Amino acid sequence: MFENLSERLSGVFDRLTKQGALSDEDVKTALREVRVALLEADVSLPVARDFVNAVQEKATGQAVTKSITPGQQVVKIVHDALIDVLKGEGEPGALKIDNAPAPILMVGLQGSGKTTTTAKLAKRLKDRDGKRVLMASLDVNRPAAMEQLAILGMQIGVDTLPIVKGETPVQIAKRTKTQASLGGYDVYMLDTAGRLSIDEELMAQVEQVRDIVSPRETLLVVDGLTGQDAVQTAENFNTRIGISGVVLTRMDGDGRGGAALSMRAVTGKPIKFVGLGEKMDALETFEPERVAGRILG
Ligand code: GDP
Repeated sequence: MFENLSERLSGVFDRLTKQGALSDEDVKTALREVRVALLEADVSLPVARDFVNAVQEKATGQAVTKSITPGQQVVKIVHDALIDVLKGEGEPGALKIDNAPAPILMVGLQGSGKTTTTAKLAKRLKDRDGKRVLMASLDVNRPAAMEQLAILGMQIGVDTLPIVKGETPVQIAKRTKTQASLGGYDVYMLDTAGRLSIDEELMAQVEQVRDIVSPRETLLVVDGLTGQDAVQTAENFNTRIGISGVVLTRMDGDGRGGAALSMRAVTGKPIKFVGLGEKMDALETFEPERVAGRILG
């Protein structure tokens, strides 16, 4: 991920670090290129502008430390600013799931990787945190989606709520909640229905379910390859439903990666995990340090 942005910025800073002293004009030129690179990486214009302004403010008038070159100093300022934009509160990937059974609501558009991510996260909670997890699909309009979750559950050794035909999403949510309490589960995950685009019916349904289970975490799954569309989706879901974090999928693809930067800046919500493939263990904690490092190369 971030290959294009990384290469571009590396090019900018290669030129910078070859110069001796850094003039105001140099900083401006470099930051103009940073801005173009960010825009090309599909970072939204206001986010790119704010980012560059913040860096310029920090860079201007800063005493040049003897131990590093001015170029390196700008790189450090850009690096720190990237982390500022990307980081959330607390540990990366931390979930509020202390009080059992803790509900996690998974939301997102159809095809974003929501069902796959639900199972990946369930596996992670089971394997790494020793949690007993119960999963349920609320996608009553797509029996194949419910089947898919059941099959993934069997593969990873995580229970899914038995499917009862004719139930509404709200009924399934209630049954999952009851079953999670009775069955002594630590966490229950609700894979809500996806749509191809955001519509009123979908939002109303997710809202109803949210009000019934009071989720500890509401995680929005978005396709990292969709750039600005992903950010728009996140903004819509956050405004209407209130999300606690984002999972960016398909970050193994050759996306331009700017979505991560815009996502955090626009929604104010942390990216908690990234999906890096179709396999069940291809889910990683989102690490701002690593991402910033990769951007700068
Ligand atoms: P849903 O409609 O949102 O539930 O989407 P699915 O979970 O069914 O995923 C749609 C497709 O995307 C499936 O073929 C998944 O294997 C694939 N997928 C999900 N996450 C990732 C990811 O992080 N990387 C890649 N390469 N494929 C993914």
